[in-house]
Amino acid sequence: PIDPEAMFKQGFLDDVYKERPVKNVITRFPPEPNGYLHIGHAKAIAVNFGFAKYHGGVTYLRFDDTNPEKEEEKYFDAIQEVVKWLGFEPYKITYSSDNFQKLYDLAEKLINIGKAYVCYCEDTEIKLQRGGEKGANPRYRCKHADQTTEDNLAKFRDMRDGKYKPREAFLRMKQDITDGNPQMWDLAAYRIKTDTPHHRTGWDWKIYPTYDFTHCLCDSFEDITHSLCTTEFILSRVSYEWLNKSLEVYEPMQREYGRLNLTGTVLSKRKILKLVEEKIVRDWDDPRLYTLIAIRRRGVPPWGHSGIHRFEQSIRKYLEKTVPRLMMILDPVPVVIDDAEEIELDVPFSPKDPKMGSHKVKFTPTVYIDRSDFREEDSKDYFRLAPGKSVGLLHAPYPIKATSFTKDEATGKVTEIRAVFDKELKKAKTYIQWVGTAGSRKVEARIHNALFKSEKPEDAEGGFLKDLNPESEVIYHDALIESGFDEVKRRAPWPEAAGESELGKGGPESIRFQALRVAYFAVDSDSTDDKIVLNRIVSLKEDAGK
Ligand code: ATP
Ligand code: MG
Ligand code: MG
Repeated sequence: PIDPEAMFKQGFLDDVYKERPVKNVITRFPPEPNGYLHIGHAKAIAVNFGFAKYHGGVTYLRFDDTNPEKEEEKYFDAIQEVVKWLGFEPYKITYSSDNFQKLYDLAEKLINIGKAYVCYCEDTEIKLQRGGEKGANPRYRCKHADQTTEDNLAKFRDMRDGKYKPREAFLRMKQDITDGNPQMWDLAAYRIKTDTPHHRTGWDWKIYPTYDFTHCLCDSFEDITHSLCTTEFILSRVSYEWLNKSLEVYEPMQREYGRLNLTGTVLSKRKILKLVEEKIVRDWDDPRLYTLIAIRRRGVPPWGHSGIHRFEQSIRKYLEKTVPRLMMILDPVPVVIDDAEEIELDVPFSPKDPKMGSHKVKFTPTVYIDRSDFREEDSKDYFRLAPGKSVGLLHAPYPIKATSFTKDEATGKVTEIRAVFDKELKKAKTYIQWVGTAGSRKVEARIHNALFKSEKPEDAEGGFLKDLNPESEVIYHDALIESGFDEVKRRAPWPEAAGESELGKGGPESIRFQALRVAYFAVDSDSTDDKIVLNRIVSLKEDAGK
């Protein structure tokens, strides 16, 4: 879980607060609704919502919807849902587009005070004005910068009224080209866009404000006290402050925190889309991806990842203490125990936490064990089942000793093992999981491994699509799970830890358990009434399954 003391009481975010130690902290999380949020956004959410919450303040969820060409309705709902899933409640949901008129009026004000002009230059020309390649030539302004205020106003209104085509003209801030910071070199404030209707304002507007013009002003309108963004905006801080100051509006304080980067995967929307389109993954929520809907589907609890760079370890540590244990067999092979009878066992859901309770499991004369726990030939350094060798069965009355086995000639696979109880052996060297024939059921278990072979798929020769791990999804179609599963399902969401269960409610992914000696699993949304599909959330130990 996020540790507010560690995150906000010390270090960078504590310093940010001390720079402006106000009573009513107001922050915002400002996603552009142009895709599903990913694990990096979870950090942004934790920082912005967490900071305000820690100081008793509030947070706006602001959709930064100023680019109709890239934004889609479906993302609005997905983003809201994910924020809620992470356990945060927006103070208000707002839209940058709600301020289009206000922003427009301020653009006219900026023109009126001589700090904006309508420019007709093309990209190549603008590059030269800004110093050209590597800043080889001196920076200069075009003649449009010398237009009169009246002229600029008239031209800006022409832009608004559709008298220009896209790219023919744009509104430019008149900043300070002698400043060493490129964010001061007369940035664009408004562009013409007439091809796509805006999802909220339809065809009302033919001009749209840029990020540099919009963001600081929307922060100001909402009385944001601390505007927290990622470090690639450090240079933008200067233009952010310049615009608010120039227009004499309330000035929020922008500060920048480190972006979260995850190796071994891709986060870019364009690249994920490629994986989806080429059917390399199931969809945007494929458990191998690191979008938040994928992480959720995989069964990762929303409060389970604070130290995100040690993502899996922290999930494991959390699940270890909070979810029940069950016995499950991925690749079953039957063991017929000649001298066994059916008995009912009372098995605790957790070896350490009696509060989790226990459930009944039937031990039957035939049990299934995992193929990997049997060897046709014994050896000295091997401690599981083999002919003549004994192994313990978890919770069962006695260890068993294999007496013989049968094999399918065609496939070479063992089809049945015969065994007897080894009543002399008090304690076996190893105890393995098993599943009886009564009450157990067949399930599909999906094991997800890294989607890519290397840590930096983007740098791979031939691009990230050439770096795919062919073993990224391994499916066991005939896995078997014990009868305790029904109770685990009934009592979901897991973990049941006080107060937290509310967040994980609803989805099948909140049915979580540890399959003893196998891995942590959660129920997948592909499950139906007659077929259970499981996702591996994480392995039991760090390197397993890599
Ligand atoms: P991407 O390009 O990956 O889609 P983005 O920055 O375009 O990311 P936005 O919707 O604009 O996505 O982001 C909303 C907020 O989330 C911004 O404040 C942004 O700085 C923050 N954010 C995005 N990616 C990360 C990341 N990897 N780590 C931390 N914060 C991030
Ligand atoms: Mg983006
Ligand atoms: Mg963005």
